[in-house]
Amino acid sequence: MESRLQKLEALRDSLMQRLERYHQHQKRADGPLDPDFAEQAVEVQNDEVVEALEEEGRDRLIQVNHALARIQQDAGDICERCQGAISAGRLSALPEATLCADCASSEQ
Ligand SMILES: [Zn+2]
Repeated sequence: MESRLQKLEALRDSLMQRLERYHQHQKRADGPLDPDFAEQAVEVQNDEVVEALEEEGRDRLIQVNHALARIQQDAGDICERCQGAISAGRLSALPEATLCADCASSEQ
């Protein structure tokens, strides 16, 4: 079975690739905006979607890197807030978790 570290590294790589694609989109690597107004409106809407996705991806990447750093400090399965153990089930469902389920739910 894939270890948590392998999962996190795979997640980090795919997030970085995704962010690079969004970045290319925002730079208009595939040409200038369509001169037709209706098309342009759709493009702008897409931009907003891509921007939201990019932000979400960036936040997740930060969390993934944070979890990787915690693992390197041998604290990968210790809750950052209460210092309790993060359950194996939670870590397998959410490899980038650095809070136990209780602390994570009280944070929202
Ligand atoms: Zn906790």
